[in-house]
Amino acid sequence: MTINKRKIALLIVLMLLPGVILAKHFTLVVDAGHGGRDKGALGRHSYEKDINLAVALEFGKMVERGFDDVEVVYTRDKDVYLTLQERVNVANSKNGNLFVSIHTNSLPLNAKNRTQIKGSATYTLGLHKTEENLEVAKRENSVISLEKDYTTTYQGFNPNSTESYIMFELCQNMHVEQSVDFASLVQKEFVRTAQRTDKGVRQAGFLVLARTSMPSVLVELDFICNPEEENFLASKSGCKKMAKSLYNAFEVYLGANDAKYSGNSDKEPPLKSAEEKVIEENKEKGMLADGEIIYKIQFLTSKKLLVAGSAEFMGLENVSCYKDKGLYKYTYGEAKSEKEALKILQSIRKKFKQAFIVSFKNGKRIK
Ligand SMILES: [Zn+2]
Repeated sequence: MTINKRKIALLIVLMLLPGVILAKHFTLVVDAGHGGRDKGALGRHSYEKDINLAVALEFGKMVERGFDDVEVVYTRDKDVYLTLQERVNVANSKNGNLFVSIHTNSLPLNAKNRTQIKGSATYTLGLHKTEENLEVAKRENSVISLEKDYTTTYQGFNPNSTESYIMFELCQNMHVEQSVDFASLVQKEFVRTAQRTDKGVRQAGFLVLARTSMPSVLVELDFICNPEEENFLASKSGCKKMAKSLYNAFEVYLGANDAKYSGNSDKEPPLKSAEEKVIEENKEKGMLADGEIIYKIQFLTSKKLLVAGSAEFMGLENVSCYKDKGLYKYTYGEAKSEKEALKILQSIRKKFKQAFIVSFKNGKRIK
């Protein structure tokens, strides 16, 4: 081999090397809400599905350009119809590290303020605290009625019945903290980068969030029923600003996430007031204890999200639930010591022979 040929060979190796060494270490799943025959909310001259897709693709493109080691997975990258379950399947089968579902808000035709209302909101999974949040979840979940077998696929979930939403109180998302982290960053950027009105980090029962087994948020970009906001969202610059907001939030999240969840940095995670609020509320409910270890009795694991009072609980009340690796794990009782937990375990074993003690710290299962 001549010197020149060697040089060229070396150059080629060097060029290929980064691709070989840098295995993708983070998978971002971007979900453009609705699509195809499901148009989503309607504006005067645009459809929700198109706004969602434009922002999703722009956001994904920015991440692909900005991070070599992040794989971006789209649930859809064109105007096609997908069921909620199909979106979930894409995210779970790709082992996503973060799921971002992009939607555009709207009020019903008879709402008085529908042409004036504005603002961006980011939702994480939980029980709604206001009627307004419940209505958003109902509207977004109602797309399942376009599916032929939706009662089977979603185990009798009725998107229009308030009772159906009670199960979201029961089930605590294992990733609530990370989801709220990201949601808070998104809201901050919507205000800073896209000059949107801040409607805050909220919680409601979205099926698509309940079924994905990773930190997940659902973004409501702004209101398509307000002509001014519709014009902004449907414009190229509006789309870019919304995508850039998501990108900026993702950049901060990724940095903090690496530090916080791989445990190799003493950098403070970006705790935002809205996040703190939600975590505080969870602590009050006993879902998250501040640094202390909480012992619970795990007695049942199910692929199904069960409603309080389900026959499977054999009469147990005050059951709580956490989601882990795509399964719902049901627990009973709460004790501050192992000794106390053993007592509860003995009583539970009469009904559930396989029951065992699990412990949680700061809302996370520990060994
Ligand atoms: Zn939507």
